This record gives sequence, C-alpha cells and structure tokens, in this order.
Amino acid sequence: MTAVQVVSARFPEIHPESRYELFIDGASVSSSGMESFRCFDPYEETEWGVLAAATDDDVDHAVQAARTAFPSWAATPVAARAEVLRVLANLIRQNVEELARLQVHENGKTITEMRGATSMLPALADYVGQLAINHHGASLQPTLPGHDAWTRPEPIGVIAAIAPWNNPLLLLAWKLFPAIAAGNTVVVKPSEVTPVSTLRLAQLAHQAGVPAGVINVVTGAAATGAALVRHPDIDKVAFTGSTAAGIQIAKAAAARVLRTTLELGGKGPQIVFPEADLERAVPSLLGGLIAGTGQACNAGSRLLVHENVYDEVLDGLKEALKKVVIGDPLGPQVQIGPLASRAHYEKVTGYFNIADGEQETTLLFGGRSGAALGGGSTGLFVEPTLYSTPGKSSRVRCEEIFGPIGAVIAFGSEEEAVAIANESEFGLVSGLWTQDVDRAAQVSKQLRSGVVWINTWRAFGINVPFGGYKLSGVGRELGPDLLREYTETKAIWLGHAAAPA
Ligand code: NAD
Repeated sequence: MTAVQVVSARFPEIHPESRYELFIDGASVSSSGMESFRCFDPYEETEWGVLAAATDDDVDHAVQAARTAFPSWAATPVAARAEVLRVLANLIRQNVEELARLQVHENGKTITEMRGATSMLPALADYVGQLAINHHGASLQPTLPGHDAWTRPEPIGVIAAIAPWNNPLLLLAWKLFPAIAAGNTVVVKPSEVTPVSTLRLAQLAHQAGVPAGVINVVTGAAATGAALVRHPDIDKVAFTGSTAAGIQIAKAAAARVLRTTLELGGKGPQIVFPEADLERAVPSLLGGLIAGTGQACNAGSRLLVHENVYDEVLDGLKEALKKVVIGDPLGPQVQIGPLASRAHYEKVTGYFNIADGEQETTLLFGGRSGAALGGGSTGLFVEPTLYSTPGKSSRVRCEEIFGPIGAVIAFGSEEEAVAIANESEFGLVSGLWTQDVDRAAQVSKQLRSGVVWINTWRAFGINVPFGGYKLSGVGRELGPDLLREYTETKAIWLGHAAAPA
C-alpha cells in the first residue's frame, strides 16, 4: 500500500505524514534506531502517521525513567495522586471527540463505539483516585505475646502495560489509572495498530500534572512488547491481548516470578432458554454478535438456542441482520465498520473457507465480504454471518474468530446447554436468556466464566470486576478490589520490650 500525501477528507485535522515520537520522561523523544512503521486507516485503506519502532535501548531508557520516577511518585500523598487523576479526567472529558476520532482512524471501529468507550475513562480516573484514598491496611489482633502486627499496601514498582488495538484507550486505562493511583510508574506499549491515540493520552496525562517518568510510552510491534517484558527492572506485566501472546508473556514472567494480569481471548456463549423474552433477547443476541464488528473479547460468538425456539430466534435474527448498517465508521448510524487491517480481514474471511470444509457446518446467514457489501470504500468489510455448527470439533465453533461470525448450536436440555457453554477453552463472558429465576440462579453458578450476564449482554461498570477463567486470563480489572492488582501487601510486626516486672 502506498502512502497518501494528501490530507484525508474524513480526518482533516491529521496530516498523514505527521511523525509521532516516543514519550519518555515527560518528553517526546526520538528512537535510538532507524526503524519506523505507519498507522493504517482501514476504511480508506491508506497509511498515515510515521512512528518509531522502539529498540531495546529505547525500552531500557523508558524503564529507567519509570524506575527513577518511582520513589518520588510512590511517596506523593495519595490525595495528590487522586487530584492529578481528577484533573486528567476533566481533560479527557474535554477531548473525548478527538480521542474517539483518533481511534476510529486507527482501528476502523464505529465512532459510536469509540466515543462510548472513551467516555468511560473520566469516571474510571475519578473512581480509582477515590479507591486509592480508601485503600488501606489493617491493624491485626496480636497472636504472639508482646507483639503488634499490621499490614500496609505498597505500590509494586514499575509496571509494563501492554494493550491491544480493539479498544486501545479503555483497555489501557484499566491498567494505567489504577497503577498510577496506587503509586506505581508505568511503561506503556500500545498496539502497533493504535499507537497515536495512546501517545495523545500520555500527553494529556502530562498536561494534567502526572510528573515526568510516571507514564512512558514506547511504540512498536510484538518485539518491543517482548523487550519490555524481559527487562529486568519491570515489576509487573499487565497485558490485554490474544491468548497466544498471553502465554508467551506468562512464560517470560514466570522465569522471574513476575506478577501478571492477563486479559485474553474469549468465545462467549449466549444461551437462549425456551421461556426467554425473545423480543428482548433477539436484539441483544445481534449486539453480542456484531458489536465492534465482532472484534471484541466479549463477543457473543456462540449462540446456544433451545430447540423449541430455534426457528423463531433464527428468523428474528435474520430479519435483524438484514437491517444492519455497514459503512464508514464515522457515520452516526453505522453499526459495522471495516475490520482493522488487511491481515486481520484475511484471517477472519479465511473462516468462510474453513466453514466450507467442515462437514456438519452449514451457512445460515451472510458469508459475503469486501466491496461487494457496498460499504462505500474499497472494503475490508465482513458481513455478519451465522453458521449452524453441531459438530463439537468445528473450528468455527471453538476458535476465537474476532469478526462478526457466529456459531449457532441447538440444545435440548439445561444440562446440555451448560455443557456446551463450558466446552470452550475460554471462559471470559457468557450470557443466558430466561424468565425462570431458579434457572437463572442455577445456570449462572455453573457457567465457567468471569462474567455472566442474565437477560442482558455487554453490561459494564467501573465498579464491577471483569476478567476471565481458563485461557481467558488471570486477574481482574475494574471493580472495588482493583487496587490489589497494583499493590503489594506488607505485614509489619513490632516486638515490644518486655514490660518491667
Ligand atoms: P495481540 O496479542 O496480537 O497483541 C496485543 C498487544 O501485545 C500488542 O500491543 C502487541 O504488540 C503485543 N504483543 C504481541 N505479542 C507479544 C509478546 N510476545 N510479548 C509482548 N507483547 C506482545 O492481540 P491484539 O490482536 O492486539 O488484540 C486482540 C486480542 O485481544 C483478542 O484475542 C482479544 O480477545 C483480546 N482481548 C482481550 C480482552 C480482555 O479483556 N480479556 C479485551 C480486548 C481484547
């Protein structure tokens, strides 16, 4: 793909040849190396921006800056840290549109989705500031004579925060904000697909008063992330991305007994029981399938439908799917934008061939891609697609596709539904539709996933934990215990001199 030299009519505020440097120790810094890479607008299929591929030396520079800044930031009164986060929250509020547009330019997701996700950041910044103020140790009843004991939460040190492209700022904020609220310093490695929005967030943080060295950003691909993980001065890795990369990171971290938070892939089941309110369920099933053009860890990409309502649900879904608006992600009505990159498009559309080769898998809806969909560009579009997948070994049914392609499976009993839901190696999110309260209570206990949605899908709150079972990850983000992920607990004992007789 050749670089365009003209300013995009869709993003006149951004010159396609702009250079974006690393952000280290409070300043834009040139890389020590010569390698660069570019962003890609998936709707226009044009490249824009020039970014440094950070070298091992750059990573070392960023980690040393974070290490140097750590003692002073850790010793900063927590109320002052919370105040910086409050100022940052306000700055983000004032710049939501700019940040959302940048992300659309980078990953092609709809402006509606990126605006909504970015709007969560200020509330999260305020929330973690308050959590940090209220995070405390305990004075413990002495169990040994002549002793007192208490605990004290302490920041961990230098955190490596590695983020994916599918929701770049929100998923980074889930790590960055609690890390700094607790007194840690951070080196961020954004996805190579979405580095510019992250650099902008770092600038805003600096403008808000986050001191130099507390937040550093190194741009680059997986090699830069790997260099960061193996750097000896990193104390914890907080990662969101694919399970394959998560396993590599876990192995590297294990060699040094590093703490990790890993938020990985998913293959969420949406279960429809026969007594479900289908008028509510069907639009929600659709949303679970197509939100973020299916490029969501929390996609509801397995649809488990009771045989008594199978036809009705499928008919309703097909009608709804026909009305889905595909097009320019900046369009306010658009629900499906292009996939984020040509490589990802090839991977997702490759599942059409995989499905064709599977004996029991049959196409129920969709199956088209590209310019044929008439989305208005050269076309990294994939039509929302449903396959019937009764075969347990179907790759369409088992693998995370990360596009708007769903596997539909009929079931006959509650036990069968739970068994199918739990057959996946992933365990991030799951959902069930029922009006039977007992069933809701029982099934939600049996589902092996970090989040269970009953009669809803994709409900999120800053105070509700999110994270996975099984290959979907380790640790939790958001929620009232979030600061535990970014603090060590120190136990302090005090032995008293014997009391005079
Ligand atoms: P990815 O694993 O390819 O990359 C994620 C980040 O890790 C990028 O910054 C990448 O450069 C870096 N990276 C890749 N390999 C690395 C390595 N060996 N060492 C260090 N860094 C490395 O994932 P992606 O394609 O950017 O994101 C999509 C994936 O993320 C999907 O699997 C999705 O389910 C998952 N995801 C999970 C959640 C969650 O909360 N569980 C949320 C969003 C996305």
